[in-house]
Amino acid sequence: MKILVTGGAGFIGSAVIRHIIDHTTNSVVNVDKLTYAGNLESLTGWEDNPRYAFEQVDICDREALERVFTTHQPDAVMHLAAESHVDRSIDGPAAFVETNIIGTYTLLEVCRQYWNGLDDKRQAAFRFHHISTDEVYGDLHGTDELFTETTPYAPSSPYSASKASSDHLVRAWQRTYGLPTIVTNCSNNYGPYHFPEKLIPLMILNALEGKSLPVYGNGLQVRDWLFVDDHARALYQVVTKGAVGETYNIGGHNEKQNIEVVKTICAIMDELVPMHKRGYLEGTQHASLITYVQDRPGHDVRYAIDAGKIERELGWTPQETFESGIRKTVEWYLTNREWWQRVLDGSYTRERLGAN
Ligand code: NAD
Repeated sequence: MKILVTGGAGFIGSAVIRHIIDHTTNSVVNVDKLTYAGNLESLTGWEDNPRYAFEQVDICDREALERVFTTHQPDAVMHLAAESHVDRSIDGPAAFVETNIIGTYTLLEVCRQYWNGLDDKRQAAFRFHHISTDEVYGDLHGTDELFTETTPYAPSSPYSASKASSDHLVRAWQRTYGLPTIVTNCSNNYGPYHFPEKLIPLMILNALEGKSLPVYGNGLQVRDWLFVDDHARALYQVVTKGAVGETYNIGGHNEKQNIEVVKTICAIMDELVPMHKRGYLEGTQHASLITYVQDRPGHDVRYAIDAGKIERELGWTPQETFESGIRKTVEWYLTNREWWQRVLDGSYTRERLGAN
């Protein structure tokens, strides 16, 4: 089977592609615009692999997408391309409306046209898998409930509102046109190759450099955390075994307050990279770098997810606990300095644009 993955140069998309190439016999076409968040250095080593192809294409560009579908003739689409950072959506929502809503609409339309032209057998086997977030469900503050697949949508940020819109479009294309779609909504991911603007890699790298560790508000916001490779495995189960028209929630059973997450990272860093070995006073610990900063506007207090349906129906469960996954993540950043240094100094984008 040939799977067209959008956003494959991003954090989760690259984990999905590594999973497919390393653990299955399927082929991948990676369709990515390469925004600041797209990094082909997360996908090295397959330049000559006949099961991997890359197309630098914007999902809002209908003509280019039509050419990609005609050329590669995919059997399934896994749609991960998106603007994904909540803070950026507050500062500049236009790109989120453009890519997450218009881009998803354009992809659906090109895919529908392509799917209509397939023979009956390939039409029946085809899947359009839309990858989304639990943030579409809004804030669980003040309750001990969990998000289920039937929780009403109540997005708070421009990011989550744009993802909610795209989820609705995908379901409408299934209901109205019969396109065989599946939607997944997942909690916060963490792990290797995560762009260092997001909480966990930012804290690891700031701690490593002895910089302050900025925590929004009182740090008591609760998120459920899932190791990215567990998410990639779940997504592959869904695209190959999930039922058309269904939604599956994906989560890690790891509800943690942000401040707990930061303190856990600090404790692992104290063990692996003691501060006094880098010229700080003996006994100084990474937690002393924590600084509370003004909260994000509209910040949701609690997300928590019930992943029972995918566990029961598709037999998926996470393999990492938060404790094992966060240790692996810190260790990965400590041993893959070149990857993140090239992100921090911008050379990963300069070189691909031919400016170096
Ligand atoms: P990311 O920001 O790391 O990667 C996004 C990728 O999409 C990048 O490679 C970027 O170049 C590409 N892209 C952006 N705009 C594009 C466009 N117009 N055309 C083609 N490519 C474009 O994001 P991520 O964290 O890997 O998230 C992937 C998906 O998973 C997103 O849809 C996101 O909403 C969803 N999701 C993320 C999380 C999380 O914790 N990161 C959790 C649940 C769901």
